[in-house]
Amino acid sequence: MFLPGFEPPPARAPAPRLADRLGRAISYLRLSVTDRCDCRCVYCMPERMRFLPKDEVLTLEELDRVGSAFVRLGVRKIRLTGGEPLVRRDVTGLIRSLSRHLGAGLDELTLTTNGSQLARFARELADCGVQRVNVSLDTLDPATFRSISRFGDLSRVMAGLDAADAAGLAVKINTVALKGVNETEACRLVAWAHSRGYDLTFIEVMPLGGAGRERLDQHVPLSEVADALAARWTLTPSAHRSGGPARYYQVRETGGRVGLITPLSHSFCDRCNRVRVTCAGKLYPCLGHDDGVDLRAALRESADDGRLVEAIESATAGKAKGHDFRVGSTLSRSSTARSMSVTGG
Ligand code: SAM
Ligand code: SF4
Repeated sequence: MFLPGFEPPPARAPAPRLADRLGRAISYLRLSVTDRCDCRCVYCMPERMRFLPKDEVLTLEELDRVGSAFVRLGVRKIRLTGGEPLVRRDVTGLIRSLSRHLGAGLDELTLTTNGSQLARFARELADCGVQRVNVSLDTLDPATFRSISRFGDLSRVMAGLDAADAAGLAVKINTVALKGVNETEACRLVAWAHSRGYDLTFIEVMPLGGAGRERLDQHVPLSEVADALAARWTLTPSAHRSGGPARYYQVRETGGRVGLITPLSHSFCDRCNRVRVTCAGKLYPCLGHDDGVDLRAALRESADDGRLVEAIESATAGKAKGHDFRVGSTLSRSSTARSMSVTGG
């Protein structure tokens, strides 16, 4: 079932044509469907976050036009994100609609979620053609979970994971490594994730937006996490790629995989294949720069997608060579004014 008025899927997969001036092909879109969230993770947003007025946020139809234009331009993977994508009303209508491109240009339609609403939505997501979800989970301790997320409830995430398993969704866990908060939990998290058949990827905390004082000094180089894991298990580099920036290791004793995303200690920009569009229609070719291009005006000016496609192509061409996140003193100030919840993580 498609949202009314949408185009039918193209008969054949389009050839990729979206690339930047450095020759990096863009095949992966992260599309934020809302900046709102039912949590306030300390590294992501302040407790009193000010959200966008509703009329600045793209409608579901506009989000569908954006996603579909990217597919026509050769994007093969779309990850819906936010904010918390599952708090957007009727988001499954958008997912169902975008799923018409699966097998017709689009290889994967997925989402990143905090898991709080997954118990309600897992079955419907699977029915919509979603095959895997990334669930963000930084700790297995209920009190630590509450203090990181401020409003979150670990038992709801666990119920969401049970529902995802029952619906046949593949799950990958994303864990932000936080100094003095969860750094001693790395082995426990990996053992737990692998016992449930999930890959787990650690992420270094990035200097984005005004998440407040709590984010400062939280950076843990993932080499330290890898050392802790290697002291317990046998880790061998894996050729596995998920289409994103993670580099994987196979853990012999558990049979599972651990990913490391290390934007600060090792840049991955030379292989970047991604762009991001916010829920307000700003296209950010790079997570670490403030040079967004407005797609909303192009969308609202005309029902024809000509200007939209032009704006996407020219913004992508100008994608920066890389971010300039640095470990050390500059981590204490934000590299961009936007928090991850605004850009879409
Ligand atoms: N609400 C959903 C969730 O938490 O999965 C999706 C949006 S969230 C912004 C996407 C991812 O960004 C999460 O895995 C979160 O942990 C991560 N994130 C948020 N702020 C971050 C930061 N400053 N540094 C590194 N990762 C961050
Ligand atoms: Fe919400 Fe995700 Fe940001 Fe946490 S990381 S506040 S769950 S958007």
